[in-house]
Amino acid sequence: MMDHLKGVAALTIDLDGTLADTGGLKLRMWPSLLQDPRVVLTWPKVVEAMRGRRAPDLRAACVDELARRLGRPAAEVDRSVGEHIDRRWAALYRHAAPPSGLARLMAEARARGMPIAIVSDYPALDKLEAMALPAGQGVDLVIDCRALGALKPAPDGLLAAAALLGHRPGALLHVGDRWETDGLAAAAAGARFLHIDALHR
Ligand SMILES: [Mg+2]
Repeated sequence: MMDHLKGVAALTIDLDGTLADTGGLKLRMWPSLLQDPRVVLTWPKVVEAMRGRRAPDLRAACVDELARRLGRPAAEVDRSVGEHIDRRWAALYRHAAPPSGLARLMAEARARGMPIAIVSDYPALDKLEAMALPAGQGVDLVIDCRALGALKPAPDGLLAAAALLGHRPGALLHVGDRWETDGLAAAAAGARFLHIDALHR
C-alpha cells in the first residue's frame, strides 16, 4: 500500500459510505419504506438541500423543511424521522463493516500511535455502537457536524477534530467517499483528503 500516512499526525474518517459500506443497508429499509415512504425517501434530499447553510439546530431545520415539502405537521414528521431515520436506520449498521483497505489503514495509524476521529454529518455514536468495531478499529473522537450546525463541505467538523486532537488541520488526513462533501471540507480546512476508492476496497 502507498504510504498515505506519511507526514500525517491524525486520521479523520467519514462514516456513511466510508467506515461503513451503506450500499446493502438500503435494501433493509423496506419495512420503513412501507410505513412512511415519503419521509424515508425525502429526508436525504432535504439534508442535501441544507448543505452550506448554517443553523443552530440543523435537525429541527431539516424536519421543518421536510414537513413543509410533505404538507404534514412538523411534530408528526419529527416522530417519523426519529423512528425511521434516527433509530431504525442507525440500528442497521450492525450489518455494516469497514472496507478491508480502510481497516488496514486504521491499523497502520494505530501502530504509529495516531489518533483516529470519525467526522460525520449525522450523530454517529449509535451507528458505531451497532457496528461493534473490533479491537484496533476503535476511535478516539466522534464529531457530529450536524450538532455543530454546519454539514460538510463546511470545514467545521474537521477543524473541531483538529482542535480536540491537538493538531494543526494541515496534519490531518481525512478519508471520505464524496469529493463534493468530504473532499471540499478537507480542502476548506487545509487538511489532506483520501478518497475511499483509493484504498482498493
Ligand atoms: Mg459519506
